[in-house]
This record gives sequence, structure tokens and C-alpha cells, in this order.
Amino acid sequence: MTYVDLVLQKLSTDGDREAVIGGDTRLTRSQARDLLFRLADGLVQRGVKPGDGVAVYVGNTPEAVLLNLAVHLLGGRLVYVPPEPGPAELKALVERAEVAGVVVDPSFGEQIDGWHLQDLPGDPVERVPAPEFATVAYTGGTTGLPKLAVHRPNPLAATDPRAAMPPVTMLCNTLITHGSGSSMSKAALVTGSKLVLGPSTFDADTFVRLARDEQIAVTMFVPPMLYEVLDHPDCPGPQFGMVLVGGSPLAPRRLRQAIEKWGPVVNQGYGMTEALGIAMMPGTDIDLDRPETLRTVGRPDPAMEVEIRDGDVWVRGPFVMEGYWGEPPLSETADGWFNTGDMGYLDDDGYLYLNDRSKDVIVTGRTSDNVYSRLLDDFLVTLPGIRQAAAVGRPDEALGEVVHLFLVTDGQEDVDVDRIRDSVVAELGDLYQPRGVTIVDQLPLTKVGKVDKRKLRSQFR
Ligand code: AMP
Repeated sequence: MTYVDLVLQKLSTDGDREAVIGGDTRLTRSQARDLLFRLADGLVQRGVKPGDGVAVYVGNTPEAVLLNLAVHLLGGRLVYVPPEPGPAELKALVERAEVAGVVVDPSFGEQIDGWHLQDLPGDPVERVPAPEFATVAYTGGTTGLPKLAVHRPNPLAATDPRAAMPPVTMLCNTLITHGSGSSMSKAALVTGSKLVLGPSTFDADTFVRLARDEQIAVTMFVPPMLYEVLDHPDCPGPQFGMVLVGGSPLAPRRLRQAIEKWGPVVNQGYGMTEALGIAMMPGTDIDLDRPETLRTVGRPDPAMEVEIRDGDVWVRGPFVMEGYWGEPPLSETADGWFNTGDMGYLDDDGYLYLNDRSKDVIVTGRTSDNVYSRLLDDFLVTLPGIRQAAAVGRPDEALGEVVHLFLVTDGQEDVDVDRIRDSVVAELGDLYQPRGVTIVDQLPLTKVGKVDKRKLRSQFR
């Protein structure tokens, strides 16, 4: 039995209950079930067979959620297409993914050609879900084309404990074609919950409205989204049963603020496209008097192994991808182990702490020491008037790189750069001393809503 069977079980009972909501569309369970079978039939009519790849270039709509499910129902290999870069790159990526077809939602973008999602539904032919399928997710990629991470069904999914959880109303804020949004939409459907889709590009006003009008109980943010909601004049009060925050570094001060606002329901998660669900720190284990509990990403999931090798976090287990498409599987090359590219350490009680992504570490000084940019980011937002901060390395002839800060202020008071420099040196030492500061209105974000340090660094190259 796969997660698709579990979803179908839920969609086959209480047909009039709402299942998936997005924009102006509100689908009941029976409407969602019908559309799921129609979309699967549309794919079959276009020649899609079990094992075939189907690329999807879609945004956050109920139809797109069901399309993704339909590909898995047929035993296909679902290939998510990133919302960027340009048409030529996307075409190359789709070619590399070796798919039988591409489904495009033109209202999301017209960067590539394919079968239009709106025209896809065929007949409502009921089909039994295939036992095997795969998902291919694009990774951020440092240069050139994103890499394609292949995930096969999680062997734990058949006994997915979430299936027994009571249904609630969940709001998905990230793209459903990213690991976070795809996990959230699956979790909602498997538990028979009502899935509310936020827009493909997050905005805090819409979040505030949906949280109130749809009475959201469970949601997930990447940190910059959380910060915008916390700073919003109509930020919701304590209405949530569970809030998950993860996907990029979460400033302890902001996590504290969220817990003070919403209670101990705010959990910090650590995962990535290549290894979904590595560790989680439950809000109930966070003690506001013990600051380290606001910094840790928690203990590794019991199903996952985590090792620190030369400062890098390595992982192995059922949530790790099989490998990159077109490359040998990790089981052949590394005995299943995967280097996350994150630097961190485990404490004596098995709690995992992340220092920085290795690409974001600033290597500076005559002895090429490591400055963990994230330590700076976390500290800077504790200073008065600073709302968001991103430290990056700026190339420097003498020192290799030097620390450069991008700051978003609250506009209330003038920012005194000398005072900031002094505070940084007093807290973190000379090595962390910023050599340049740029005040910006907002930090650039990736399409998933994370701070885009690559874009910040590119200003210097
Ligand atoms: P992505 O593959 O786009 O989901 O990005 C995954 C990366 O986000 C990880 O390798 C980490 O660098 C970062 N990340 C995810 N969760 C956290 C977290 N809770 N704290 C710090 N960094 C995180």
C-alpha cells in the first residue's frame, strides 16, 4: 500500500467535506477524487505508462496537487521543474530528466511547452494505485543547472503514523514542487485534512487573511516568511496546533518571539531536497531560559543516521534520496551516506547544531579562518533597529574574503555602522568584524522564499 492508497481512502469517505482549496477553487473530497482519476486518465490517453517520467511546471493550485498525485497513482516518475531560471535552461533540464511528457500550467508561467494542465482531465476511470513510483526534485544548485534528486517511496510510508492523525486544516506556504510544500500537501491528504494552498509567491497579507478566514491549525514557514508574519500588524494570535519552521537558518531571537506569540507549538525542522526530514526540535522541548534549545535543530529522526565528518553533517536513512538522476545511486558510491554540505556538531545528548552551509562560510584573515555567516546573522538581529541580516564574503586581495553585511532595518532609528561593528567584535571577536555594510529595503529571496546569499555575493564578482 502506498500513500496514494491512503489518500484515496480518505477521499472516498465524507465526500462533501472540503479537501483542497486554492485561489477561488474549493474542491470537496469527491470532487478531488474525481479530478484525480480524470487527470490520471488524461495522462494515460497521452501515452504515459508506469515508470515514465512526467515533468510538471505548475504553481500552487488544487489541480496541480492532484496532478502530482495522479503521476504517482500511475506509477510514474514525477519530475518537478523549478520556477526559474530561463526557458533554455528549463528545456535542458527537462531533456536531462528524460520524460515522456511535460504538463504546464500557463497561468504559472509559459517558459516551456507542454500539455496544458487545464486541458488534461480525461474520463473518471477508477484505477488502482501502482505499487512503485518516484519523485525527482530539483536542488538549489550552486552554478549551472540544478541537480535532480531522485526519491523512491519511503518504505515507512505504508505504515505512515500520520494516517491515523485527526484531520485538521493545513496551510501550505511554499511551492508544492519544493520538498517542503510537497511534504506538506502529502501530509494533508494522507491525514484527510483540509489543504489550503497559499499563493505560489508568499505574501504575508494573504497568509494573515487565510489563517483567520480558514482557521488554520497547522502550517509551515521558511524563516523569512515567519519574520514577515511576526512583523505584520495583524499577525495572528495563538490559534495554531503546530507550526513548522525550517529550510534555512532560523534566528533564535525570532524563534523565541514565535513561541511567545503562539505557544510551544513552534517546531524547528531540518531537511533538504536530497534528505527530507533529518531532524526536528519540538517546541515543547524548547526552554526559553536555555538559549541553546533555540539554536539546535533537535535530535535526528529515529529512522535517520547522522554523523559529523570533518565538521560536515553526513546522513543516511529512508528520507535520503536514492541519488542524482543520471548518476550512480548513493548505495553504490557511498554506502548510502550523503554529505549535506552543512557544517555542524552533535552535543553529548545527541542534539544537532548547524553552524553554516559550507558555501556560506566566509574564509578570511591571514590564516584563512572560518567565519560562520549564520552566527553573525543571528547576532545582528538581536541589535536594536535591525530586522533582518545576511552576512556574506566579499573577495579581498589581502584577506581572501572579508565580511560584508546586508541589513534590513526597522526604519525607526538611524543605523550606526560603527556601533554595529563594535558590538560584533565584542560578541564574536575581531575575525567577525564587518568591513562593509549595505542597508537594503529587503533581502533577495529564492522562489521558495529563502534568503538568496548567492545573489548577494554575485554583486561582488
Ligand atoms: P533545500 O534543498 O532547498 O531544501 O535546502 C536545504 C538546506 O537548507 C540545508 O542543506 C540547510 O543548509 C538549510 N536548512 C534547512 N533547514 C535548516 C534549519 N532548520 N537550520 C539551518 N539551515 C537549514
